[in-house]
Amino acid sequence: MKRITIITILFFGIFSCKTDSKKTDKLNVVTTTTMITDLVKNIGGDLINIEGLMGSGVDPHLYKASEGDVTKLANADIIFYNGLHLEGKLVEVFEKMGTQNIKTVAVSDAIDKNTLIGSEYFASNYDPHIWFDITYWEQVTQFVVNKLSEAVPSEKDTFKANGDNYLSQLNNLKTEINATINSLPKEKRILVTAHDAFNYFGKAFEFEVVGLQGLSTATEAGVQDVQKLAAFIIDKKVNAIFVESSVPKRTIEALQAAVKSKGHDVTIGGTLYSDALGNAGTVEGTYIGMFKYNVNTIVNALK
Ligand SMILES: [Zn+2]
Repeated sequence: MKRITIITILFFGIFSCKTDSKKTDKLNVVTTTTMITDLVKNIGGDLINIEGLMGSGVDPHLYKASEGDVTKLANADIIFYNGLHLEGKLVEVFEKMGTQNIKTVAVSDAIDKNTLIGSEYFASNYDPHIWFDITYWEQVTQFVVNKLSEAVPSEKDTFKANGDNYLSQLNNLKTEINATINSLPKEKRILVTAHDAFNYFGKAFEFEVVGLQGLSTATEAGVQDVQKLAAFIIDKKVNAIFVESSVPKRTIEALQAAVKSKGHDVTIGGTLYSDALGNAGTVEGTYIGMFKYNVNTIVNALK
């Protein structure tokens, strides 16, 4: 008996040494969207290894996990995802990870569900585009600080300091954006985009928001939707509509053509970052840079 125990200890000792040598001693974090990757990087800094699954221009509604992603997810200590069925095709994968004792964290759990915008399009029954309300993103920041601190208690002071620093940047962002938006008269605050990603933005900054494709890009816009929205644009004298970086351009171009066919003109005001940030390493590749870019683009085009 004793011999077996010693052998067992030796075996597991060697085995655990082997697995440890594969990983560094840093926490292995996997994130889904670029918005979440940016946020977790800001809080975790050099103390974590982070792998973001989705790059710029990637549509999370349609995203499917590759084999490489499954390996990354299986090697994670903690996975941060949006939840509320934003990553509609990854839900099953996350459920599997849960049974393998990998901690999965939906950042939308930071928010009181009673305050969310309802939606019949998603199995969650809520609009998942929560990052477009900066107040929500502040709550998510605090939530991520807490989750990382639970995972690595010895570094909780650093996570807190990084979180506080980021929260003050978000506060400055709010002030700057409010000033920009206040330069746009209320009657001009009508935002027409490819899909309904901007409802929380609209609620926070008093815009009327209309998305051609509804809340998820998984539903295609029909001819009737295009005609109806064209009539709305003419009626409300909207002078610009917007393409989104993670949605094909053709739907908004079809809308522009429909407005023109009725003898009116509407310009394409630019490309907004909706469900993905810009390229890594650029200003729009960060949440804060993306927000400023979107607001400047919207306000300049609608003025
Ligand atoms: Zn979306």
